[in-house]
Amino acid sequence: MALIEVRNLSVAYKTPLGIVHALEDVTFNVNRGESLAVVGESGSGKSTLALAVARLLPPNAVYVNGSIMFDGLNLLSMDNDEVRKIRGTGIFMVFQEPATSLNPVFKIKEQLLEALRVRYEREGNSFDEHKAIDEIMRVLRDVRMTDPELIIDRYPHQLSGGQIQRVMIAMGLLMRPKLYIADEPTSALDVTVQAQILKLLRDLKREYGISILFITHDIAVASIIGDSIMVLYAGQLMELGAMKDIIYEPRHPYTQALLNSIPRVSKAEGKLPMIGGSVPNLLNPPSGCRFHPRCPSAKDVCSKVVPSLVRVGNVYVRCHLYGQ
Ligand code: ATP
Ligand code: SF4
Ligand code: MG
Repeated sequence: MALIEVRNLSVAYKTPLGIVHALEDVTFNVNRGESLAVVGESGSGKSTLALAVARLLPPNAVYVNGSIMFDGLNLLSMDNDEVRKIRGTGIFMVFQEPATSLNPVFKIKEQLLEALRVRYEREGNSFDEHKAIDEIMRVLRDVRMTDPELIIDRYPHQLSGGQIQRVMIAMGLLMRPKLYIADEPTSALDVTVQAQILKLLRDLKREYGISILFITHDIAVASIIGDSIMVLYAGQLMELGAMKDIIYEPRHPYTQALLNSIPRVSKAEGKLPMIGGSVPNLLNPPSGCRFHPRCPSAKDVCSKVVPSLVRVGNVYVRCHLYGQ
């Protein structure tokens, strides 16, 4: 059984200018002990998807349609108390600005101890600070933190971006969630540190059997971390499947464009200069296939009818070039 099953999920934001159609009809699974990378340009709905799965959407967001099952439980029918319990024990999320996931007024040690206190309570064990510190030091070594005994006495603002990432991964491991959600956790880091963190996450997934939902605008990064990949464009799921199936044989014109843009991706800006045009305004998204204004293969039907998600070989594709 999959850990997460999302079906036909649509999410919108109410704004003074109108309704933003941020996600439309998104369907996917995350299997136990596997990682799914979500890729798309800025504004494609990646963070919305992560927040929707963690039930952390802001108050102006609406679940328009669809269902989210987590570990066999229907997340969208739970009240806030039930959701809080699931988040405390089952889902751990690192936000797009990792520093904001830590509390600035507490030392790292206090925050990691608190994470452990929550887990000990859940497991029905009494809290023993000596034992807890031992476990914290062990996990900090697992995440290859240098000088962990100095680091734990610092405040978040005294750490580098890479150190904060390692602290967040360590915190996730101490809490032993079933699902680890990471929203662009490495995009602010330099390339070498980014590669180290990605490798670390991959190793730890294997060692600890945690499922990962990993969000990035960079398909090269996605290919390192993901067992599977989901390509989002303007809130529509365009292609979904095993990483190797999609990287070596992309079917969707947008996935092809993303892959073609790799050598020219400007990492600093996170932009994809290869693909002409820009991401549409989701207050008034393009009709039919949302990619049609930029698609080199667009046909008449593309602006009129939303393509269905169809199975092609081992992958799922939303494009009129396939199926029917
Ligand atoms: P980025 O790569 O820039 O982080 P993203 O893929 O994470 O982008 P989202 O943040 O999910 O994209 O945004 C999807 C759409 O929803 C965008 O059009 C964005 O402007 C809009 N949006 C996001 N948050 C809100 C909000 N709180 N209120 C209104 N609109 C929002
Ligand atoms: Fe291009 Fe049409 Fe396929 Fe959309 S549905 S990606 S516009 S060919
Ligand atoms: Mg985002």
